Amino acid sequence: MRAVSYSATGQPPTLGPWPDPVCPDDGVVVRVGATGVCRSDWHAWRGHDPVPLPHVPGHELAGTVAAVGRGVRRWAVGDRVTVPFVCGCGRCEWCAAGDTQVCPDQTQPGFTGPGSFAELVALNAADTNLVRLPDGLDVVTAASLGCRLATAFRALVTHGRVAAGDWVAVHGCGGVGLSAVMVAAALGARVVAIDVSPAALARATELGATATVRADDPVAEVRELTGGVHVSLDAVGSPETAVASVRCLRPRGRHVQVGLLLGDASTPPLPMDLVVARELSVHGSHGMPAHQYPDLLALVADGALDPGLLVGRVIGLDEAGAALAAMDEPATSAGMTVVRMD
Ligand SMILES: [Zn+2]
Ligand SMILES: [Zn+2]
Repeated sequence: MRAVSYSATGQPPTLGPWPDPVCPDDGVVVRVGATGVCRSDWHAWRGHDPVPLPHVPGHELAGTVAAVGRGVRRWAVGDRVTVPFVCGCGRCEWCAAGDTQVCPDQTQPGFTGPGSFAELVALNAADTNLVRLPDGLDVVTAASLGCRLATAFRALVTHGRVAAGDWVAVHGCGGVGLSAVMVAAALGARVVAIDVSPAALARATELGATATVRADDPVAEVRELTGGVHVSLDAVGSPETAVASVRCLRPRGRHVQVGLLLGDASTPPLPMDLVVARELSVHGSHGMPAHQYPDLLALVADGALDPGLLVGRVIGLDEAGAALAAMDEPATSAGMTVVRMD
């Protein structure tokens, strides 16, 4: 098959031949229909997040089942599917409880093994991890669900327990932040979007933000606007945004850490005095298990949420390597790039 790969971190990813994946006994091989280009792939390529080399990136995929392992019961060749970026092992106590997103034996296509910048990709524990695509959902839109939108959905619904009318602060309006703005608005929340980029804030307003704050230190302005928010997301993953997120909360409010806090940023000095005095909760959110996708897909089906709005450029597999390398430049608010296979 053909795949985009690199053999050393930072080396330009190139399209070329790559061995066909072997179908796992408990898994499937999917013929990739579309795959998103994500900043997490860029972090791996730059060496911020170690991956086996040589490596095929790509973890936001949708496609068609092309081969089925002999232990798989729920899936057949020809099924249209997507998959969370974290695949649980399907055997441990966390997977049994439905929490595949924190499985200690998790696999992540495009990180722990070859990903979906390829014609074919192998996925483990298919009965646990695959998500069936509704007939009306095209592969490009479906590829945009798997990472940022699913992550935003679980952060807001499961951890944030957002209710209609709640104030939600979203710190950082990149891919996952803009997804969170859209999902929170779809849930009926009032959203205050925070970023230093006027273009990102304009996009947040188009996607449903009630108010925007452009500041390095947004806490006073957010508190004045909202009286303190019910739920606050750090969608950046820096010590400054994590701390600001906690400080924006009203009593009993919920901070959800979505940004990854890599490297030197890994231990932000959260104001635990406020966590005690205001009885705040601090949550980490890490993707979303397959069984929760129907709730997200229901929002899409009834028109409350249009993931297509997040899609910017659609390119071919031959352009995927260049699109990944282009992430050396800061994110623009032009939307996510999706690779569509021919
Ligand atoms: Zn991603
Ligand atoms: Zn597991």
